[in-house]
Amino acid sequence: MPRVARPTAARIARSTSQSRATSPARSLLCSFPILMPSLASLFLLLLARDTTGYWQQQVSYRITASLDEPTGALSGRERISYVNRSSATLRDFYVHQYLNAFRPGSRWAAADSAEGRDRFQHLGDPDYAFERITAATLGGREVRPDYPYAPDSTIAHWTLARPLVPGDSLLVEVEWQARLSTLPRRQGRRGRRFDFAQWYPKVVVYDKYGWEDHPLYPGGEFYGEFATYDVTLDLPDDQVIGATGVPVEGDPGWEKAKVDPAQQIDYQRLWYRSPLPAPGCAALRVGAGRKCVRFRAERVHHFAFSLNPQYRYEQGRFGDAVVRVLYLPEDRATWGNGIAVRNTVTALAWLDSLYGTYQWPQLTNVHRIEGGGTEFPMMIMDGSAGIGLIVHETGHQYTMGQLANNEWREGWLDEGFTSFQTGWFFESHGGPPAYDGLEPEVLWLDLERWSEPVSFPGERYRDFTTYNAMVYSKAQLFYEELRYVVGDETMRRILRAYFARWRLKHVDEDALREVAEDVSGRDLKWLFAQWLHATPLFDYRLKRVERHHLADGRWRMVVTIERRGDGRLPVEIGDGDTIYARATGEPAEERVEFVAAARPGRLVLDPRGRTHDYNLLNNREPRVLVGRGAWSFRLDDPTRETARRDRLVRAWLPVAWSNSFGGFTVGLRERTNYLGRYDRGLLVAALATGPGATNRFDFYGRWGNPIGHPEPRTETSMSAWSAEGRAGAKLSMDRSLRQHLDFGADPHVGFDALWMATTELGYLDRGLWDDAGSVEAGPWWSITTRHGATVLRARLGARGGVVYSNPGKGIVSPTRYDFEGFGRFTGEASVRTPLWGRTTLGLRLFAGGYTGASEPVRQRRIPVAGADPYETFTDPLLRSRGALFLRPDFYYHAPGNANLRAFRRDLGGRWAVSVNGELTRSLGRRDHGFLREASLMGFADAGVVDTLAVPATKPGRGSTFLYESGLGLVTSHQLGDLDWTLRFEVPLVVAPFQFAADSVSGKGRFAFRWQVSLSPSF
Ligand SMILES: [Zn+2]
Repeated sequence: MPRVARPTAARIARSTSQSRATSPARSLLCSFPILMPSLASLFLLLLARDTTGYWQQQVSYRITASLDEPTGALSGRERISYVNRSSATLRDFYVHQYLNAFRPGSRWAAADSAEGRDRFQHLGDPDYAFERITAATLGGREVRPDYPYAPDSTIAHWTLARPLVPGDSLLVEVEWQARLSTLPRRQGRRGRRFDFAQWYPKVVVYDKYGWEDHPLYPGGEFYGEFATYDVTLDLPDDQVIGATGVPVEGDPGWEKAKVDPAQQIDYQRLWYRSPLPAPGCAALRVGAGRKCVRFRAERVHHFAFSLNPQYRYEQGRFGDAVVRVLYLPEDRATWGNGIAVRNTVTALAWLDSLYGTYQWPQLTNVHRIEGGGTEFPMMIMDGSAGIGLIVHETGHQYTMGQLANNEWREGWLDEGFTSFQTGWFFESHGGPPAYDGLEPEVLWLDLERWSEPVSFPGERYRDFTTYNAMVYSKAQLFYEELRYVVGDETMRRILRAYFARWRLKHVDEDALREVAEDVSGRDLKWLFAQWLHATPLFDYRLKRVERHHLADGRWRMVVTIERRGDGRLPVEIGDGDTIYARATGEPAEERVEFVAAARPGRLVLDPRGRTHDYNLLNNREPRVLVGRGAWSFRLDDPTRETARRDRLVRAWLPVAWSNSFGGFTVGLRERTNYLGRYDRGLLVAALATGPGATNRFDFYGRWGNPIGHPEPRTETSMSAWSAEGRAGAKLSMDRSLRQHLDFGADPHVGFDALWMATTELGYLDRGLWDDAGSVEAGPWWSITTRHGATVLRARLGARGGVVYSNPGKGIVSPTRYDFEGFGRFTGEASVRTPLWGRTTLGLRLFAGGYTGASEPVRQRRIPVAGADPYETFTDPLLRSRGALFLRPDFYYHAPGNANLRAFRRDLGGRWAVSVNGELTRSLGRRDHGFLREASLMGFADAGVVDTLAVPATKPGRGSTFLYESGLGLVTSHQLGDLDWTLRFEVPLVVAPFQFAADSVSGKGRFAFRWQVSLSPSF
């Protein structure tokens, strides 16, 4: 099946062209020349050997089934002939009853519940799927099966009464009833449409590892014995059928469904010359309005079919293989007019050129109920007819169908392989290399340590998202790296030899690796081990380059390479246009010598970017003055962050603001990033032009997440500043403890250490700042969880340190500093939950306290109205007296702390406890444009604060009660990658009103006041 979801990952363009599409869609307009098979037949003959010791069980099915459309139930009877070709004596017998996964109580349903997906676990009758054995006879004895994985019933088991010795055979007869689920998943039913897959008791594979009895989980697919299928179906006579195999008796309905009346339908009725043993349709007495259709398929490990009386039929051919396409009447423009037929033929041609001749008579491509696609032998069920999907699903005819791996144990052998050859298809047909779009996504997963070994069995992955990312994307990258190591030509020879040796057999890692080693003539165990069984990181550094001009005019170059990661790959050395040499990439330090005819330009390691090197910034030859200079300068677009795979992006922007003391201030800002995640820097240099300003030159710098020491799921930063009368430094660490990428709680822990000093009082808003500094540090913890549309958040923080006031008059010296230890603690919890219609309730609780012998300095008090001065310091609009949002006649609310939003921002004390409540009603929402959502809001906040913050309303009281209430308009906006919330609020009631932010005009408790904010209130 195709990938269903990709993990969120930084999307990074490799080259300067940022908009370069990696989507296959781009190639849709290209024509697809059919590649001629390479001339390797003789060579392949030599290689089509060495499956010595390989065996597979001999199985044949004779199935008769009748579908009752109104109930959706299928009644079947099957005769399984089983020959034990192994060297072991078998004492058990197992069949899969896969349809039992799509119902409550299955392992599949349990896995869905654990990961927050609601699919089959709550389906009722008649929506869930089932498969019930009603009678079973083994070797002539009637025996009821048992279910070793109960309550899951996707595996049925019998203990054999008589052990089956090597070479002996067993006859199993089973009667069963089955129904598909109305919620489709690789099968399904809707009205008169039926996509039958994994619908009959199917023999469990017995291979060199033993019985592969394994319940069906969402992560991982199927595994089947190669068998002969003789399937006789009793159906309503207007049904049109697409199926595995060829119709040997009866009318599949194609004649009436064919679009082109002149079309000669090639039924291939005589494809299998083997005599038809069973009585087939002759023995089936079909009722009025019904028909019998009989199919036969040989050397396939599954039989699937699809029914729809509305199907339209088109036909094509590639070589000996007939291509049948069945689509819906409304698909004329997307599937019809030969489009789907052409795409399927194109895919077969590509695969033929890659692997060799398709081994089966036909390939049927049907438009199924579910989106996406699923592969079955000789049959693909697709949700659309796009070339990407069709090349992928048709690709599975080789990697899954004819080269049949155990899909739940080694999904990388079908999904990763198929994704790889699909990517290669687009690359060979004018598209961009799949590597370039794929590699940064995988790198992000590797660096963040989400990756798990590609060789895991499907259900062993942390979750379905990780399964998907590893088995599709990372496995695809493995094949790309194999191709890089051996070269394109050898890779093609490997694929052809692999097919020649293993077609119509079960394959595994050893099978592929041995072929790759034989064809390439090299040991590849290290490559398979690293990429499939571990999750290494790769980093090569160009340490030194020596250039020697030789007497004959040529240049002898000596390059020293340092390996800094635990992963190893050969490393190319080049200068842009030319690759001069390839280092082995093995030792920790490697010297490579080569001679060039002309003087090489600046040398770069891995100039084509094929080694999955996480730090390409240290790959360039250093130069005088600029060093490695792996930079890309650009004018910053504040609404977008541009990242590059090979360079540090340094984005510059002129900035300006003003305040009372410094006046108009101009500056230059630089943002840097590597891969959107590392080497994140922010530098601001500014000059205050006000006539009275002192300390005119401002500087703020922050550096974070060094790529030299990548820390998974952790943000680190170091900052320092001397700006607008304050100086200081800060260290921060924020580690995410989340367990799953796309569901579950998101807890974080962090630590901050900070020094803040005041150096020039002229800048300070004295209501918010005393002439004092603090040195403090402490941990914090936060969590966000979602339950449906309800979001819960909590945060706790603690800081301890010393605060000093400076400078006062001392007794023995002209200045003195008063030091004092203090602690500061805050905690908050909030919830936002939908109530009814489009109305949402938000509630928040807050408590904060300051401990210390003396009265806290203003900047360290627990603020009543919102954010504290340290929190707003980095914002020049909120930093200094007279800044845009700090003007006395402008009411801006920076949320935080007690969040009593209508009160003066300079109120703060030793402690505060508050509650914030909001009822929001959405007026409309959309997912495009500048305005995304508008809501009306009613709010009410109340709190108790100490009398240092607000004097007692009645003398003698130790605390003051505050409350407020009002209405607001909240809008959400998006510009580029930037999104923000705009709040306009009218606090109609404020008490005690003397302390309202807007109290200048002597308004009373009830009055019109306003304020704005650029953030949500909580
Ligand atoms: Zn697939």
